[in-house]
Amino acid sequence: MDKFTVSRTLDEISRYIQLSDPNPFKAKAFEKASRAVGDLEGDLESMVASGTIYDVDGIGKATGKIIEEIVNTGTSQYLEELRTQYPPGIFELLRVPKLGLKKIGQLHAELGIGSIDELEAAARDGRIAKMKGFGAKTAEHILKGVGFARMRESSFLLPVGIEVGELLRERLADFEEVEDAEVSGAVRRRLEVIHGVEIVVSTKKPAAVAEHLKELVADLEEIDAKTYKGQARTEMDVTFHLASPAEYGSMLLRTTGSAEFIEAFGDIAKAKTERDAFKAAGIPFVEPERRENADDLKVKKRPKLVEVAHLRGTFHVHTTFSDGRNTMAQMLTAAHERGWEYVGISDHSPIAFYANGLSEERLRQQHAEIAKQEKTVTPMRVFRGTEADILQNGTMDYGEKILSKFDFVIASVHSGFTMQKDEMTERILRAMDDPSVTFLGHLTGRRLLSREGYSVEYDRIFEKAGQRGVMIEINGNPQRLDLDWRHLQRALDRGVMFSINPDAHSISEYNAVITGTWVARKGGLGPAQIFNTKDVDEVAEWFAAKKKSGAAHG
Ligand SMILES: [Zn+2]
Ligand SMILES: [Zn+2]
Repeated sequence: MDKFTVSRTLDEISRYIQLSDPNPFKAKAFEKASRAVGDLEGDLESMVASGTIYDVDGIGKATGKIIEEIVNTGTSQYLEELRTQYPPGIFELLRVPKLGLKKIGQLHAELGIGSIDELEAAARDGRIAKMKGFGAKTAEHILKGVGFARMRESSFLLPVGIEVGELLRERLADFEEVEDAEVSGAVRRRLEVIHGVEIVVSTKKPAAVAEHLKELVADLEEIDAKTYKGQARTEMDVTFHLASPAEYGSMLLRTTGSAEFIEAFGDIAKAKTERDAFKAAGIPFVEPERRENADDLKVKKRPKLVEVAHLRGTFHVHTTFSDGRNTMAQMLTAAHERGWEYVGISDHSPIAFYANGLSEERLRQQHAEIAKQEKTVTPMRVFRGTEADILQNGTMDYGEKILSKFDFVIASVHSGFTMQKDEMTERILRAMDDPSVTFLGHLTGRRLLSREGYSVEYDRIFEKAGQRGVMIEINGNPQRLDLDWRHLQRALDRGVMFSINPDAHSISEYNAVITGTWVARKGGLGPAQIFNTKDVDEVAEWFAAKKKSGAAHG
């Protein structure tokens, strides 16, 4: 029993409790335990055997007992009981925006709703509008949300696809008949939203492998002699493509896609490796991320794409001073351990009260803390920044005097998302006129699979950013990936420089620089176009020069 399975089981218990129990503390305890188990350093089974599991922060008496039970029996009696009280599809209702577990529990208790279809029917015939605490407006919202939920069905964020794909690949490695296996399809192309996972398997014994596959995924069906399709436990479609070692490369190329790319590619010769298949066609290798369309097949000389290893540091990092979950010391140490030359700390500005934005007084405390901690992470340099709100009228939170003291300023929109396109564009344009603004943060505010971004006139913003030397962030948070890779070239053409920023609220979220780099690669960017591939001196000089020119402007 691995810790992730246990962690997921605890999380499931927590979700069921939230459906039925208005007291939030019980559910919170399981949520905490789930996180604690997921973060465990030691071996779970031996910790259970020795009883030290109870000493772990976040694990209490009740939750510890259940962890023991799951490790020893593979399940929890308590969870089994909870499951019998609800229809199996109850959590699919979470796909409806703004419908939380508490409301879902209420809908189930009062109207017996347990699926999206039932929800839609009740929203239409007026039953939801009559419910206490819901009303006609909510019913209308729900109906709209149902449409959205249907669209999202079987859509997943890229990291989910990677997790499922890599887990299956690891398991495949256990079978001796499997010579090699690789995730292909949209996951390999690093598309931000995917609908399934494709895995190419190299084997001389397809029949034996096909038998093994049945152990790996539920509902495996044979599509044809070599393609097996099934649903993984995450309810994600998984397709296996079995190929002989002599055709492994060509199969990898074909199933990586996209359809448009493969069509433009033309005939694919049987090949052992993918590079051989490119060679046979006389086409220079195209990185998987660049295979969304046929663009790269038309150009002979292509720039080398940026890699995570090119990044020498990063910006847009939150700490517990605002809404981060790790302290300044922890965030700096983790950045230092990544071998970065520099890191830019940027907590929220005062108007972002919901995110615990920093008043002038608390900003002083934060700077004192940086001064204290930076000595422990030398020679890494710590740049003092802020993620300051662009106010509704386009001026910047904090005001000129304070802003001019930062090394860098990330300007972000966190309010008024429903603004009209031209109004929003003017708002952002005005912010860029502020000489202290260094970066534009998450340009459209989108949340993949849950919220569309606000509309802006991209070209006007790119034009201005190029003129003013304001950099545009590629926000690597897998839910944001904002700016979208589809717009990068347009911005580049207008002289815009980019920065791959994690928007990290915890140590582990520094990993968003990896997803962010994929976005840059999909957009065809090389290291020279990414600000944080510069070394620490160049970065410091750049900030100083920007401030000077700002002072001249102002
Ligand atoms: Zn933000
Ligand atoms: Zn942020």
